[in-house]
Amino acid sequence: MKVTVAKALGTCFGVQDAIDLALDDSLRDDLTIIGELVHNPQTVNRLREAGVRMVRSLDEDIDTKNVMITAHGAPVSLRQNAEAKGYKVFDATCPLVMRVHKAVATFLRDGYHPVVIGQVDHVEVRGIVGDLDDYTVVLDESDLEKLIGKKKIGIVSQSTQPIDRVLQLVRLIEASFPDAEVDFQDTVCKPTKDRQVAVRELAAMVDLMIVVGGFNSSNTKKLKQVSEDLGVKAYHIDKASLLKPEMFEGHHHVGITAGTSTPYEVILEVYEEILNLPGVELSECSGPPPRETFPGKEAEEEEFV
Ligand code: SF4
Repeated sequence: MKVTVAKALGTCFGVQDAIDLALDDSLRDDLTIIGELVHNPQTVNRLREAGVRMVRSLDEDIDTKNVMITAHGAPVSLRQNAEAKGYKVFDATCPLVMRVHKAVATFLRDGYHPVVIGQVDHVEVRGIVGDLDDYTVVLDESDLEKLIGKKKIGIVSQSTQPIDRVLQLVRLIEASFPDAEVDFQDTVCKPTKDRQVAVRELAAMVDLMIVVGGFNSSNTKKLKQVSEDLGVKAYHIDKASLLKPEMFEGHHHVGITAGTSTPYEVILEVYEEILNLPGVELSECSGPPPRETFPGKEAEEEEFV
């Protein structure tokens, strides 16, 4: 059996920077993260072991001087409320999420009704629309009727949505409301696009895909979906111990990919576990990128510097 690792996979620079900030020595034992920093159980455990606290909202009991906004971002009002309560706020919002906030602000300034393509309950989307009075979140065709009567429609996307699906919905909105002025800012981030392109390329080569990431990570779920849509059997696992020899029975070429919150170490464990599975005979393998080049910060930041 051949094993090939996707060209782009795992933790993006936005998540990595946020983790690095949370683990900074200057904040040791005195930091509370508002919300889940990453949708990945191993990283969450690592942060807890390092003394980092986590709460769902500012309303919970917080016994540290410092609080942190995650890479997913938050409404400005959350930051203001935290400061009003006396906390020092560390903002780890990814610059590519900030770009979505700015695009929405520009649409509002120019008189557009803001539309976010994404999941209404996702923390990033809640951060984008949290301070807005009038907006629409669109996930599929059934949401389009909410746009009836809008004269100017300004569309952005949650940064981790599949770009093909986003473009399809934009075209549908344009076709459904021919009298409206429709503008679209592509805010799907480059790391997400890179991982989606890489999983497509890999799916064309393999007959089995192992998708690694937290079960609550939406972009990891999308990677599995892309594989299945291309006719490749896919398993979503969040740790190497979930691999079973029978998953590989009858398959000749296995691909490994991982969402933007999956740490390098977990990918490596999965890769090594596959190499060591009983009864799995390897004919060729391409491994993960070297640790020192992961997560490819320069290339990923290129689009906004
Ligand atoms: S997935 Fe994209 S937008 Fe989100 S933290 Fe990573 S780089 Fe930033």
